[in-house]
Amino acid sequence: MAAFHSVAALLLATLGLSAIEAGIVFPSQAKLTDNASYDYIIVGGGTSGCVVARRLVDTNHSVLVLESGGDPSAISMLPGLFYLLPGTNLDYDYKSTFDDYAASAQGNYTRLTAGNALGGSSVLNHHLSIRPIPQDYDDIASLTGDDGWSYDNMLPYFKKTETVKDEEIASTYSEYHGDSGPLGITRELHDDDVAYYLKALAEVGNPTVEDLNGPVSVGYMQPLLNIDNGIRQTPAYVYLNDIKDNPNLHISKNTKVSKINFANSTAVSVEAIYKGTTYTFRANKEIIVSAGVFNTPQILQLSGVGSKEVLDSLNVDQVADLPVGDNLRIPPTVIVVQKTKKNLNVLSAVSSLLPAVVPTKIPFPLLLGTTPTNKSSEIPNYQTYNLMLPHDTPFLTLACVSIYGYTLDVCLRWQTQIATRDAVYSVVVNLDAVSTGTVRANSTDINDAPIITTGFYSESEDLERAVDILLDLLAVQDSPTMKNLGAAVVGVDFPECADKEAGSREFWKCYVLHRTIAGFLYSGTCPLQTCVDSELKLLGLKKIRVADASVFPKVLHGALNAAVLALGEKAADLILQDAAN
Ligand SMILES: Cc1cc2nc3c(=O)[nH]c(=O)nc-3n(C[C@H](O)[C@H](O)[C@H](O)COP(=O)(O)OP(=O)(O)OC[C@H]3O[C@@H](n4cnc5c(N)ncnc54)[C@H](O)[C@@H]3O)c2cc1C
Repeated sequence: MAAFHSVAALLLATLGLSAIEAGIVFPSQAKLTDNASYDYIIVGGGTSGCVVARRLVDTNHSVLVLESGGDPSAISMLPGLFYLLPGTNLDYDYKSTFDDYAASAQGNYTRLTAGNALGGSSVLNHHLSIRPIPQDYDDIASLTGDDGWSYDNMLPYFKKTETVKDEEIASTYSEYHGDSGPLGITRELHDDDVAYYLKALAEVGNPTVEDLNGPVSVGYMQPLLNIDNGIRQTPAYVYLNDIKDNPNLHISKNTKVSKINFANSTAVSVEAIYKGTTYTFRANKEIIVSAGVFNTPQILQLSGVGSKEVLDSLNVDQVADLPVGDNLRIPPTVIVVQKTKKNLNVLSAVSSLLPAVVPTKIPFPLLLGTTPTNKSSEIPNYQTYNLMLPHDTPFLTLACVSIYGYTLDVCLRWQTQIATRDAVYSVVVNLDAVSTGTVRANSTDINDAPIITTGFYSESEDLERAVDILLDLLAVQDSPTMKNLGAAVVGVDFPECADKEAGSREFWKCYVLHRTIAGFLYSGTCPLQTCVDSELKLLGLKKIRVADASVFPKVLHGALNAAVLALGEKAADLILQDAAN
C-alpha cells in the first residue's frame, strides 16, 4: 500500500495536484470555540453535506460542517485506484449481524463499505453516474403529495450538479444534462473491447443505448463517470475547493457528532468530539443531519429520536417517536462470472496491467445495464455493472476480495476458471427488492459501530426475483455470439450447492444465497413520509432536517451518488426558501 501511495503522490504532482497531499486543496480545519453559534450546522460532511454547505455559504450564511473523517487521501482522488480504498481509514468498514442469509461468501457477515472522510462515500465510490429512473421520483411525489419531487421538478437539480464533458452525450441529450455544474462527467470508451458482449446482449433482447440518464431507462451503455481530467469528482473537491477560504465556511474534520440537543421540540445545538474534547455548537437557524444511512439513525437515536423500544434499550429519553433506523434498504447484489473469448496472447496479458501504473482511468472497460426481466417493460428491475476483464488479469481477484469482500476461496474459484479467457464479471443488483433491515445504536458511545441487520431475503419474493434476474441475465449464454465463443458461466461448482441439479431454480436459489453481498446502494433509514416530511424536516420537530440517502423510501432504480447530489441541491433550496420567509 505504501508503494501505491508514493506512486499516487508522484502522479498527482505530475498532474499539478500535489496540493491534495499537502492538504491545501480542501478547506482547512476550523478553529473551534465551545458554545459558538452558526446559522447552520451540518452533521456529516459527506456527499450531500458538502453540497448543502456550498449552497448555504454561497448565500452568505455561516455554516459549520462537522465531519468525522479527514481530507480525502491522494490515492482516493485517483479514479483507477478505487479498489485500494475499502478497509482503509476512509472506510467505516461496517459489518452486518449474521442473518442466516447470504453471508457465507464474506465470512459470515455482510460487509458494508461506507465513506469516512470529507466527501463521505463519494470519496471511495465507483464513479458511476447513473440516476434513478423518472418513475422513482414520480412515485415519491405521489407518496408525499408534493409535486416538487416529481421527475420534471427534480431534473433541474440533477443538471445543476454536473457538466457533461462527453461531446456526444452533451450535444445529443442536452435537455437532460448540465453544462455548468461542479462535477465534470466523462466516459471512457472502449468500443472494441465491449462490442462482442453488446452484440450478444442485443441478440437476446437487451438493446444498446447511448444515455441511461437521458430519454430511456432500459439498455446497456458504456457508463458516464464522475471523473474529469483524471481526478475523482467528489463534492469535497468540486463543491468546496473554490470556497475553501470563504470566512463563512467552517469545517471541523476528525470531529464526531455525538448528540443533537433539543429544547422541547426544537433542535438547538450539537455536541461533537474533537481531539478528545466535547464541544457544544449552537445553530441559529437549522441543523441538517447528513451523516449517511448508518450514522444518521445512530446519531438521532442517541439524541432521543426513535421508537420507545429502541430508546429504552439505550436508556435515552424520547424526544420524538419516529421510525428512525427501520426500513434499511440494501438491494441484494450477486456476482456472476462468464468466461468468454479464448486468448493466449502473453503480451496482451501483460498490457492489461498497465492501468495499475497509470491510475487516472478505470483499469478495465465497463458496461452498465439497467434491464427488465420482462422484455416488453420500460421499467428496469435489475442493474448490472459489467467489468470486461482481459484474460489472465489479476483485477478479478483484486476486485473480488478488496471491493466485493468475498473470501479468497470464492475469488480464486472464479480466477482459476477463467485462465486464458477474457471474462465478464457482472455485479447484479436487484432493484425491486422489498426486504428491509434495521440500524440500531449499539450503545450510547458514538464510537461504537451501530448494529446493522440487512434483512436480505426476509421477504421470500426477493429470492424468487433474484433467480429470475440471474436467469434473464444468463440468457445471454444462448446468444449466437456467446455460443460461438464457447462462453460459459464459471465458479458454479462450489460444495454448498453441489446437491442441487445444475441450472435448476433450486441451484440458482442456492447460488444467490451463497453469493449475495450488499452492493453499496444503501438507503431508507429515515424515509420521506414516515420520518421526514416532503421538505425533509423531521416530523414533529423544528429546525432540523435530514438530507442524505436515508430519506429515500425504497430502493431506487439507479445508483445513488447522483441522486444524493440532487437531493443536496434540493435540500439547500428548501432551507433557503424557509430562510427567506
Ligand atoms: C463502495 C461504494 C461504491 C459506490 N459506488 C457508487 C457508484 O459507482 N455510483 C453511485 O451512484 N453510487 C455509488 N455508491 C453510493 C453513493 O456513493 C452513496 O449512496 C452516497 O455517496 C451517499 O451519500 P450520503 O450523503 O447519504 O452519505 P455519505 O456520503 O456516506 O456521507 C455521510 C458523512 O457523514 C459522516 N459522519 C458519519 N457519522 C458522523 C458523525 N457521528 N459525526 C460527524 N460526521 C459523521 C461520514 O464520515 C460521511 O462523511 C457507492 C457507495 C459505496 C460505499
